[in-house]
Amino acid sequence: QMNPDFALAVEGLTVSFDGFKAVDDLSFYVDQNEIRVIIGPNGAGKTTVLDLICGRTRATFGSIRFKGRELTRLKEHDIVLAGVGRKFQTPSIYDDLTVFENLEISYPKGRNVLGALTFRRDAAVRERVEEVASTIFLADRLNERAEYLSHGQKQWLEIGMLLIQDPELLMLDEPVAGMSVSERKKTAELLHTIIRDRSVIVIEHDMKFVEDIAHKVTVLHQGKILSEGPMAKVQADPKVIEVYLGH
Ligand code: ADP
Repeated sequence: QMNPDFALAVEGLTVSFDGFKAVDDLSFYVDQNEIRVIIGPNGAGKTTVLDLICGRTRATFGSIRFKGRELTRLKEHDIVLAGVGRKFQTPSIYDDLTVFENLEISYPKGRNVLGALTFRRDAAVRERVEEVASTIFLADRLNERAEYLSHGQKQWLEIGMLLIQDPELLMLDEPVAGMSVSERKKTAELLHTIIRDRSVIVIEHDMKFVEDIAHKVTVLHQGKILSEGPMAKVQADPKVIEVYLGH
């Protein structure tokens, strides 16, 4: 019954914390090349859904298939290797390294014949670092120490550190929180650029930004889907206005 074109298929996903269902029999599907935005009031279960997909939290029931592969029993690290990248709200960049070095250390490590992790420091890595730096608007800041970047640039750098691993599904938790209007615009541009060969799931509260980026919006409420569809449809849904957009 599953459409094989869906990149991500979440079905019957449930997690209970001491008997409280934070995510309750949730099913949704994300297409290849789709930007899906998850919105909903505080405590709706948005963060928990991303935690479940990236393996940080174990599901009580249900399945999460990505490109046909079941993720629910994989370890967090193996989910990363399966092509799933997650950015948290607080950037985990290295302040005392340069932009170049932050991207370089995030480049997927190879293993040498003895099985030890090796760093590649060759032309291919440099080329990829420069390509990613240009995507995240930091091509002219490669030798800048990360601590001197603006708040928005730090957020982009962290997205770059995920992009260099070439994830097929990228999950972002409130990527424009604290950003200026122009940084928000550029972040929307960035998402539209990177979506060409992947899918993106974003948790977001800024409705203007949601309008700019979302192909489809999923509204969560009490761990269930309240409404789903294009932004215009969801915004006009009386149920959504009542529990979320109304206030
Ligand atoms: P949102 O991101 O939409 O604000 P969350 O996913 O953070 O919501 O939380 C959903 C609900 O699950 C909240 O009531 C929260 O208190 C609860 N919850 C989340 N994680 C845990 C946990 N590890 N243990 C107990 N309760 C949790």
